[in-house]
Amino acid sequence: MLPQSVRDHLLARRQEHLAALKEFLAIPSLVNDEPGAAEAARQASDWLAGGFSSLGLDSAVMETSRRPAVLASSRKIPGRPTLMIYGHYDVQAPEPLERWTSPPFQPQVRDGYVYARGACDDKGQLFAHLMAVEAWQRAGGGLPLNVKFFIEGQEEIGSPGIENFMAAHKDELAADAVVISDSEFFAEGVPSITYALRGLVPVELTVTGPAHDVHSGIHGGAVSNPVNVLAAMIAGLHDANGRVTVPGFYDDVLELSEQERRAWGALPFDPAAYAASLGVAELGGGERGLPPLERRWSRPTLDCNGIIGGYTGPGGKTIIPSRASAKLSMRLVANQDPDKVIEGITSYVRQHQHPGTVAEIAVLSKSRPVLLDRHSAAMKAAEAALEEAFGRRPAMIRCGASVPVTEFFQRLFGMDAVLMGLGLPDDDTHAPNERFRLEHLWRGSQAAAALMGNFGAK
Ligand SMILES: [Zn+2]
Repeated sequence: MLPQSVRDHLLARRQEHLAALKEFLAIPSLVNDEPGAAEAARQASDWLAGGFSSLGLDSAVMETSRRPAVLASSRKIPGRPTLMIYGHYDVQAPEPLERWTSPPFQPQVRDGYVYARGACDDKGQLFAHLMAVEAWQRAGGGLPLNVKFFIEGQEEIGSPGIENFMAAHKDELAADAVVISDSEFFAEGVPSITYALRGLVPVELTVTGPAHDVHSGIHGGAVSNPVNVLAAMIAGLHDANGRVTVPGFYDDVLELSEQERRAWGALPFDPAAYAASLGVAELGGGERGLPPLERRWSRPTLDCNGIIGGYTGPGGKTIIPSRASAKLSMRLVANQDPDKVIEGITSYVRQHQHPGTVAEIAVLSKSRPVLLDRHSAAMKAAEAALEEAFGRRPAMIRCGASVPVTEFFQRLFGMDAVLMGLGLPDDDTHAPNERFRLEHLWRGSQAAAALMGNFGAK
């Protein structure tokens, strides 16, 4: 239970908290190398470190392989558990700018939302935890447990180098559990805890043929065409039932339990409305015969993300191109090993070589899937906290996307995370007009504070 004084403080301080969040949102801490992005990352890190210091936490801006990370910890209370809060200050590029109603780095409040790039993903969500710390410090007689923060600046590109950083700072990062608010409710009014994420292996498949583009009239029929070969290879990656044909692809997939299947069947999910929200007439992807939530959450997938090759300018150009390539991404589920999947796609490519061309695979990165303990103490504390703040028992869901540190915490530290998402499915993260509902900021800060109280009392 959240003490009334803490709740009252969070309610009384809403406008000050919102003003502080808007300062944070105004920093254009873009993840890619746009001009000024590195300076903005430094500014966002300093802003966070200053915020942690003003809450009485020890904080430090630390170098990683790319952008600074911010670590903070409260003064140690002996005998109390330690809760780690992870988040990220980096944001996706805001383009196309003309689609924004207000500029992405000039936060604006409209119709009960704050609009800005990063409002939901992830500055607003992580800020709810700072509000919770402040409320306990100022109105709750001090924190009910030990708190640490780990905020990084390269999550949006898969947290490169962060695994090494974490391995090198095990003492600073040690805790009893980690909470991550970087996900969303299953639906409006349905608070949710995510207990599994898919892994990701993006690769580039390149087919090379003649030394340079050649005349399709003179040489067509004699020389293999890399675009044709690539297209056939991509088409062959799925069978008629939508199953991925990469050798061994499904070998290690952990089957869904009956209990989970039943629970997912009871979620308020309307496939037709979901299809309509994406602008498609029906849900035609994935393995035939399986429900859409299973296809998104508990089954591995392979998708072509883009194709490059041949002549693409105005009018025609009658050539046989010398090369073609495709970006492919594979999403992995529990028990699949990225290295075995890479072996599988490599052997697929080897088996599908076409005379007169050479096909090669380059692995761009790899991250493992993660499946979390649904019955951990932190999980129970978060369930009760969300119920107290939002008035409804949270749904236990999976998510098809990845937050790489979740798996790093589990594998390197033996620490299970709680993914307590505060966003809504229509917050438009990564899209124009990203927003965060103010009611979710207020109630989210109550949930964060309640989690601290619940876990501290464990
Ligand atoms: Zn995020």
